[in-house]
Amino acid sequence: MLAIFGAEAAPLNHPKEGIAGAPLDSCLPLPTCPIEGLVLSTPYPHLLAPLDLGFTTLANRVLMGSMHTGLEEGRKHFTAMAAFYAERARGGVGLMVTGGFAPNIEAWAKPFAGTLATHAAARRHREITAAVHAEGGKIALQILHTGRYGYSPLCVAPSRIQSPISPFTPRELGERGIERQIRAFVRCAALAREAGYNGVEVMGSEGYFINQFLVTHTNQRTDRWGGAYENRMRLAVEIVRRVREAVGPDFILIYRISLIDLIPDGSSWPEVVQLAKAVTAAGATILNTGIGWHEARIPTIATSVPRAAFAWVTKKLRDQLRADGIGIPLVTSNRINMPHIGEQVLANGSADLISLARPFLADPAFVAKAATGRADEINTCIACNQACLDHAFKNQLATCLVNPRAGHETTLLIRRALQKKRLAVVGAGPAGLAAATTLAERGHEVHLFESAAEIGGQFNLAKRIPGKEEFHETLRYFARRIEVTGVALHLNTRASAELLIGERFDEVLLATGVTPRNPRIAGQDTPGVIGYLDAILQRRPVGRRVAIVGAGGIGFDVAEFLVHDAAHPSPALDLAAWMTEWGVADPAATRGGVVRARPSAAARQVTLLQRKAGKLGAGLGKTTGWIHRSALKMKNVEMAHSVNYERIGPHEGGLGLFVSFGKERRDGKVIACDTIVLCAGQEPLRELQTPLAAAGVRLQLIGGAFEAGELDAKRAIDQGTRLAATL
Ligand code: NAP
Ligand code: SF4
Repeated sequence: MLAIFGAEAAPLNHPKEGIAGAPLDSCLPLPTCPIEGLVLSTPYPHLLAPLDLGFTTLANRVLMGSMHTGLEEGRKHFTAMAAFYAERARGGVGLMVTGGFAPNIEAWAKPFAGTLATHAAARRHREITAAVHAEGGKIALQILHTGRYGYSPLCVAPSRIQSPISPFTPRELGERGIERQIRAFVRCAALAREAGYNGVEVMGSEGYFINQFLVTHTNQRTDRWGGAYENRMRLAVEIVRRVREAVGPDFILIYRISLIDLIPDGSSWPEVVQLAKAVTAAGATILNTGIGWHEARIPTIATSVPRAAFAWVTKKLRDQLRADGIGIPLVTSNRINMPHIGEQVLANGSADLISLARPFLADPAFVAKAATGRADEINTCIACNQACLDHAFKNQLATCLVNPRAGHETTLLIRRALQKKRLAVVGAGPAGLAAATTLAERGHEVHLFESAAEIGGQFNLAKRIPGKEEFHETLRYFARRIEVTGVALHLNTRASAELLIGERFDEVLLATGVTPRNPRIAGQDTPGVIGYLDAILQRRPVGRRVAIVGAGGIGFDVAEFLVHDAAHPSPALDLAAWMTEWGVADPAATRGGVVRARPSAAARQVTLLQRKAGKLGAGLGKTTGWIHRSALKMKNVEMAHSVNYERIGPHEGGLGLFVSFGKERRDGKVIACDTIVLCAGQEPLRELQTPLAAAGVRLQLIGGAFEAGELDAKRAIDQGTRLAATL
């Protein structure tokens, strides 16, 4: 996400930047490219080429990967699901895969998870398939059996081994129990066909049920389902064979195969290849790629993971299958979020299709925009997980930080305004940008005032943090959106109350953001004490030993910024460096593709502090907080909680941060450092509110100006969009 990378770094959407670590000229020359039907008049000929599966043809090489949105649970969300998938079908994607549906109750991800096991349930699904087909789309249903990952007392597994991510110990299946699971898969697939789906995806990766049979880590059976690999893969092959038998030849059967488990005793490469060949022979139409078990301690989809970081693994399998005369289409996935990245992956022969999941939350029209020369209008998934995966883990409906309509297609409607108004939005941070562009899209005349020379507000800090480079894309998107919707942008303009009153706007939206909180620590005016803006914008020098006061999102960002060696590119932009840093290896060289992490040395010695008790970063995202904590631990960042900041003063020729711990102010000590960075949160900036209100101007506060505490871009964009949808 990541002068270090800085303001002068080019936006990431430029094709010349390619995929981190991949040779840029690796594209096959078009005349010799084996893909038929290339559309040569577009920058994305491979991406937009149709794929003939024999009995049906996919319109292009883009698959919307399965995502759990939360709509799958219960019966009340079918209309919302239909609208969700229909909107993405309208956006031109070649094939979609639904969120996972359990084939029986033992397969549940959690109690009462979405299940497809009866004819009545299949009838309900017809609403989804009819809506998708009406838009000319194709959709497959994912059959998900979570095995020991099930957050349910009913969960089952090959062996009685609890997973680290569920409190329930699974029941070990007997021979009849295994047969019951196979039949459930088969019944679910047949019901999916009955419901009008174009196919099914059998989820065999990510450490779920089928994957659990494949490796000795979770399968310690001694019967014909355990022991030798032929036995361990029997379940996968049997499910595919019997599903194919049940659904007939003209039905898409995707098998999601784990190519690199990223757990120490995962599958070996020969086992992966053997399985790929066996499920192909058993009747799979397409092999989709799975990367990493859920319990793996290596990030696989977060924003700090380089783009297309695992396409090389798919290429490895594809090359081997092709060499052995097996032509089954392969899908590659993970961190492909722009069309030029997908194009390059396909053009260099890594895969036959690309799978994008979260990018379709961010922008349902991803393919249509790529196909019509509007890739610069794509609202890019920044891989933050904040509104999708984090929501799913909190039992909330998944949506998207950069697109709050995702999952809310039937309730958050952006309609043309009945009456055109003249509106001012003050502040071009996330809240102001979302509000201004939504208002203009609805037909209002919108004036957006920004005191800085560029749009973006806090995003201009985020984009400078190593591993957060994707924020460049959001800024590119909004800059283009301002042009497309016709917002009148006034940069370098500090809108005064006089200006706003004099212009007689119908309404004024104050999105003036935040200002850093002053923590009022004794001695904080000592030279060497700086604010986070100075540190990130490199306005003040930072020494080798740093103490950071405050461990919220910005404290963590500053720590990641300061431990990174500016002489090297961010690991997020350098695949080889990232793999070394996290210990990812060639699965042909080491089982599961995981080796000892070898992080590069920290550029500075950093201590990160907070006053409250408990682990630092507890307020960070549920699915990404561990990555930030691990990244800093790998750089030997010291973390301290329950801290009282007693005072700051000179110490041994440098600075000293004098602290004590707990209510009793015990264990007083001095942290010797060269620089102290204050990251103590923020307060709202709303100086315009009083004069405007006094003059009778209709006004609304949004974003940080409304509430600075626990503000994040998700809330800011959501609030700006929702308000703009109603004015
Ligand atoms: P924040 O998350 O509210 O954290 C403020 C930090 O300052 C806390 O660690 C707080 O902990 C400390 N603090 C508060 N008052 C203090 C005082 N008077 N003296 C000393 N310390 C004080 O705010 P932020 O870090 O500025 O982040 C702003 C927003 O951006 C947050 O919502 C954050 O989630 C979001 N953001 C998120 C990410 C991310 O998820 N990766 C990254 C950047 C920003 P104690 O009170 O315990 O000391
Ligand atoms: Fe992507 Fe973040 Fe939106 Fe999820 S919330 S889809 S990760 S941008």
